[in-house]
Amino acid sequence: MGVREGFEELYGTAPEGVWAAPGRVNLIGEYTDFNEGFVMPLALPHTAVAAVSRRSDGVLRLHSADIEGPVVELHVDELVPRTNTSWAAYPAGVVWVLREAGHEVTGADIHLSSTVPTGAGLSSSAALEVVTALALNDLFELGLSGPELARFSQRAENDFVGVPCGIMDQTASACCEEGHALHLDCRDLSIRQIPFDLASEGLSLLVVDSRVKHALGDGAYAERREGCEEGARQLGVPFLRDVAYEDLSSSLARLSDERIQRYVRHVVSDDHRVDQVINLLDAGDVRAIGPILTEGHASLRDDLRISCPELDLVVDTAVGAGALGARMTGGGFGGSAVVLVEASDADTVTKAVEEAFAAAGYTAPRVFPAVPSAGARRVE
Ligand code: ADP
Ligand code: MG
Repeated sequence: MGVREGFEELYGTAPEGVWAAPGRVNLIGEYTDFNEGFVMPLALPHTAVAAVSRRSDGVLRLHSADIEGPVVELHVDELVPRTNTSWAAYPAGVVWVLREAGHEVTGADIHLSSTVPTGAGLSSSAALEVVTALALNDLFELGLSGPELARFSQRAENDFVGVPCGIMDQTASACCEEGHALHLDCRDLSIRQIPFDLASEGLSLLVVDSRVKHALGDGAYAERREGCEEGARQLGVPFLRDVAYEDLSSSLARLSDERIQRYVRHVVSDDHRVDQVINLLDAGDVRAIGPILTEGHASLRDDLRISCPELDLVVDTAVGAGALGARMTGGGFGGSAVVLVEASDADTVTKAVEEAFAAAGYTAPRVFPAVPSAGARRVE
């Protein structure tokens, strides 16, 4: 049953419209966003789809076809940050931030469903927020741009749900275009669409969901973030973005702590890798980005130390089986990896990774192609 039919069954009337917002995968630029650096995500074909109608009585009704349980009924005047720990906090948070900013959102009925895998580092949460924000923007005629919807969605996750994420996920979901990757400058939030048409090049970018999420990741994000801030402080710059790649060696020499040195080296070199990838894509040399992805993985594994045996196995096996390059993507300690392959090698590489996982006794990974897809849009 589609979300339109689901909406009608739940609420007894037709929705005013249906909107979709995708999950994303980050091609290159990891842990660079909070250092005001660069990232380069692309939208996945997987989307959160929401059927939505306005209400004028302040009632907010939320339902997910993917979650067991009844309709969650809230009131827009009674939304309190960090009190709702269920999935409903994501769409409710969007209503809350819009109202905090003075936008007249007077209630809504929402029924949604999503094909974005949850907890795989593919931003199912951002898809939920952005689809809600776009639907409310259209229905209440708020006139907000894609980047503005992304900012509100991020604030919903930071301030209402209570998750300290950067701006990448929501911007990717709101602003990506089909056949493109998105170059995002996390300082001024400017964006540039970079043509990334894999199919016409005979290439495929595989997402390998490792199906693990190690608990270690919970405190590690805050620790890395603190370490990066400390590095910037010791180098006398506002953010690590301000350390030039050309000055990396001399900058590292000024840091006493080995741990901080590693974090700084990762961030400054990954910002540089984003530049390299952009230059190669602009020059039409898509295959040449493969080794840069693999270097990025080594940096995440050895310097930032946020990989895990499962992700290392994906990368080593894929590259060993002929992939052009591979890296873990997202927050680390599990989640997904991206693998760039000749389209004709996709099956061989997939099989090699599946066999390596089986031999190691790991849960079978989920592998699918990351076709660069459209950002959030109205679909009905
Ligand atoms: P990620 O964004 O990497 O997938 P998160 O932990 O940030 O992982 O977000 C996952 C959470 O988002 C889920 O635990 C759930 O609360 C919410 N969510 C995602 N997809 C859905 C869905 N289809 N229905 C309801 N809630 C969802
Ligand atoms: Mg998330």
